[in-house]
Amino acid sequence: MDHATRQTSSSASSTRVVDVLVPVALNQTYSYRVPRGMDLEPGDVVCVPLGPREVVAVVWAQNANPDPRLHNRLKDVGEKLDVPPLKEELRKLVDWVSTYTLSARGMVLRMALRMGENLGPERMRLGVRLVGEPPKRLTPARRRLIEVLSDGLLHGKSDAAREAGVSGGVVDGLVDEGTLAVEAMPPPLAPPAPDPSFAQPDFSPQQRTAVDAMRALAANGSFHVALLDGVTGSGKTEVYFEAIAEIIRRNKQTLILMPEIALTGQFLDRFAQRFGVRPIEWHSELTPRTRQRNWAAISTGEAPVVVGARSALFLPYADLGLIIVDEEHDQAYKQDEGAHYHARDMAVVRAHIAKIPIVLASATPSVETEVNARKGRYQRVPLPSRFGGQHMPQIEAIDLRRAPPPRGRFISPPLAEQIQFAIEKREQALLFLNRRGYAPLTLCRACGHRFQCPQCTAWLVEHRLQGTLACHHCGYTAKPPDTCPKCGALHSLAACGPGVERVAEEVAKLFPAARTAIMASDTIRGPAEAEALVGAMQRREIDLLIGTQIMAKGHHFPWLTLVGVVDADLGLAGGDLRAAERTFQLLSQVAGRAGRAERPGRVLLQTYMPESGVMQALAKLDRDAFLEAEAEARKAHRMPPYGRLAALIVSGPQLENVAATARALARAAPRQDDVQIFGPAPAPLAMLRGLHRQRLLLKASKDVNVQGVLRRWLGTVKRPSDVKVKVDIDPYSFL
Ligand code: ADP
Ligand code: ZN
Repeated sequence: MDHATRQTSSSASSTRVVDVLVPVALNQTYSYRVPRGMDLEPGDVVCVPLGPREVVAVVWAQNANPDPRLHNRLKDVGEKLDVPPLKEELRKLVDWVSTYTLSARGMVLRMALRMGENLGPERMRLGVRLVGEPPKRLTPARRRLIEVLSDGLLHGKSDAAREAGVSGGVVDGLVDEGTLAVEAMPPPLAPPAPDPSFAQPDFSPQQRTAVDAMRALAANGSFHVALLDGVTGSGKTEVYFEAIAEIIRRNKQTLILMPEIALTGQFLDRFAQRFGVRPIEWHSELTPRTRQRNWAAISTGEAPVVVGARSALFLPYADLGLIIVDEEHDQAYKQDEGAHYHARDMAVVRAHIAKIPIVLASATPSVETEVNARKGRYQRVPLPSRFGGQHMPQIEAIDLRRAPPPRGRFISPPLAEQIQFAIEKREQALLFLNRRGYAPLTLCRACGHRFQCPQCTAWLVEHRLQGTLACHHCGYTAKPPDTCPKCGALHSLAACGPGVERVAEEVAKLFPAARTAIMASDTIRGPAEAEALVGAMQRREIDLLIGTQIMAKGHHFPWLTLVGVVDADLGLAGGDLRAAERTFQLLSQVAGRAGRAERPGRVLLQTYMPESGVMQALAKLDRDAFLEAEAEARKAHRMPPYGRLAALIVSGPQLENVAATARALARAAPRQDDVQIFGPAPAPLAMLRGLHRQRLLLKASKDVNVQGVLRRWLGTVKRPSDVKVKVDIDPYSFL
């Protein structure tokens, strides 16, 4: 390559040119000259000038035949960074994901480079040590700081300030006085490696078969998809840990994808119980320093096991040997901002490109995965019963038409009675309602005015604990007014419908002695608080937990015997393609929290439609029949996975421009037998963050190259500069 460059561009002397992909919303690469003495290969991470800025970017290819006319206008690569190059496997993934999702390659690359601003070696951390006599007169702040440092050891500067409860200025003051000395902190020790033989459990015969399959797949090491299909509490985690143990023994890395970071605290502990140490984490809540350190550990191979949210899929693993997708059915894996991609599907793609095994684990597999397992494309590894012989919980529907709650209340008499029993027996109960806040709708009793978000087609949700009305789509908040803004009536606002806060209020009235807590994404801030709450639950300091879906999964509460689902019909309301599937999965998962130890569990579903397919399947615990019926229905309507879908979302500040673009798209729509176009129509969220939205849906048969069709189609339509057209391949949200 090097040679060829020199020969073909003889007149341009020996200047070499590389094509560089920059992590911004662009598809194409840019050419840069390689300064003399710099050696660059595809995958190398570099700094390049981009407009007025310097950006971190990646060499994508050598450019053997640069356009000679451009030659003098090309800029030089600024610097080659001292980090491992992005492997071909990851570059291929970036290209693949970009082509499949029709998102800019640079945006996909960005996810691989997400390490905070400082790539490369960590900045030096400074510490302080007590070295001199303290000044005669001490302020209380200085005294506290000296107290903290009285051991004469080196303390991190900001740690010492935090511990003493003083500002950085107080530390600097004592440094100036000569009382404290500043020294560089030694780099943190690399964490000890997980030990594959630390504490291996004894497996049941049923588990042993699954464990054998896991070990075989890990030992084989080639591309292979296994569906670890086991009911909640069957030991899926323990079983896939054995695949990880095998990969650790082979000195390769494992990525464990989780749908939700709230889940990871308890998981990290379980991992430590099995392997002796916690794994490395990757998610959006990490501090920049940890992010940078973890990114480095992942790219050098120092981190053998990484637990992460979907974005961890794009990290530059030094030697990835296995991917686990826990709760593979979870729709949190679908990313709907920036690049639209489904992390489970793209994980299978990465495993395929890297030629490594992948395990999808679920108690309620998605229809897509189930169909693949039935066709034999994925190996099904079953775990049909709970570990230790625990029974599955008994699930019953409460028909709200026959046993309605009192007016303005949401807990029916039969459910209240069972909660009472559970508390009397000193067991725990969970009330599940997948709705944050106090009430989903507020209206004026005098004039009927409904409080709507000024920027979205959405009602404002009252959050009484925070004293706000909030939009769950854009984050807009306002204080509830004393008077109605429409008619001026005083104290006329009425809450309609329940959120978890309102259920908590009702519970406090019904069971005044019970110790209760709320677990929702806005009442717990961050993984630490979630962990604390989970701990309190495990220590039985809580009798009754009221939670949204963030507490539905993963957690293991041995004393939880009763689960009450406040509104089992909630998820069915939208009626989209996956509403029934989603409801079934979520409620099975919630139900799976009950009776995981010796005590049998009981689940009560409050519903207005106990005769519906979903409720029947739940009550009978008949997952297979449910999936069968869903798959049949999808097949009959040629819906995924038997057909393909792509959504176009047209948005902009001016309704006329949005509508005109949507109509133009419809006029230019591809006309072929195997492709159907629906719309345009105003989106259910017709207005979001102040932008008007219209949608079109493309439905095609399985063998159509949807990306090709879309690219040609979108290429023919001109749009005003204030209108955006977003493509969502395999859409999960139809809002
Ligand atoms: P799942 O992921 O299928 O819901 P888990 O792996 O969480 O199941 O297992 C449920 C509970 O049973 C956990 O507390 C786990 O530690 C325990 N468990 C599962 N298998 C074993 C085993 N072979 N030995 C000891 N405990 C086990
Ligand atoms: Zn809004």
